[in-house]
Amino acid sequence: MRKYKTSILPLIIGLFISTILYIAFHWWGFLIIFPWIGLSISVGIFLRLKLEGKKRLVGRKVSILMIFPCLFFFVPIINNENFQLEGVFLIILVGFFSKGFIHYAIAKLFGPLIWRRGFCGYACWTAAILDWLPIKNKNRNISRSYRNLRFIMLSLSLLIPIYLIFALSYNPWTDYINKQEMKLMFISNGLYYLIAIPLAFIMSDKRAFCKYVCPVALVMIPTSKIGLLKIKPNLQNDCIGCKACNHNCPMGINVMDFMKRNLSISDTECILCNDCGIVCPSNKIK
Ligand code: SF4
Ligand code: SF4
Ligand code: SF4
Repeated sequence: MRKYKTSILPLIIGLFISTILYIAFHWWGFLIIFPWIGLSISVGIFLRLKLEGKKRLVGRKVSILMIFPCLFFFVPIINNENFQLEGVFLIILVGFFSKGFIHYAIAKLFGPLIWRRGFCGYACWTAAILDWLPIKNKNRNISRSYRNLRFIMLSLSLLIPIYLIFALSYNPWTDYINKQEMKLMFISNGLYYLIAIPLAFIMSDKRAFCKYVCPVALVMIPTSKIGLLKIKPNLQNDCIGCKACNHNCPMGINVMDFMKRNLSISDTECILCNDCGIVCPSNKIK
């Protein structure tokens, strides 16, 4: 029973954060969101501790799927907000700092100073579906320059709100409160799924959208570069060069290269999923 004790920690942290935010902002929703996120991660950790071998990989997938309805349905519907990048940029442009802005600040702008791309590993509502697709990832040697496509997507995401405000005179102060925004979120993320799911099947890569298309990744990368939490090599053990870590990394990182050189994984594509650590037969990755 003692080995399962650590799994309760995320739930306790979630309760703590929700209390602080509730005291600061007086919004009851925080008392549901953060404990739920904490509980979801606790369940995932429990499954990792309970299951054996590669079955342990399901733990994180359960966590991200449990968090999905909370962030994709509960929060936007309760607030009538668009938590997609375009929606948040729209409100920032007019100085309307709503809950969408708080979400972005915590999850994607400043949070990565601690947990780097952990949002992508455990909380992204797009990836929650992608990770469960029935696809066996193939390790292809695709040029990293394809990742520049994300800059085009980012430009589009920033231009759409500018166009709405300055060309179509969209006024978030009135139109936003007229409850149109939440619908825009579902349309916007629906488009993400329309690109991401076929792309995953075509490229035999569940996270192809994350690697080559998603503009949100670019928002997180600057702070992720100096983020605290990193996957580390276990200096007590040696790498036997089996490449299981590389084959199982959803983000296509050359994990073995880091481990052979006894370096922490500094690649900003790392989503802290620890799938590499789970499959390592030498317990080299922690
Ligand atoms: S890269 Fe984009 S789609 Fe992928 S997990 Fe991160 S935020 Fe979600
Ligand atoms: S390097 Fe490890 S922790 Fe990072 S994304 Fe790949 S498998 Fe996940
Ligand atoms: S899975 Fe472990 S032993 Fe195998 S290559 Fe990766 S670090 Fe080395």
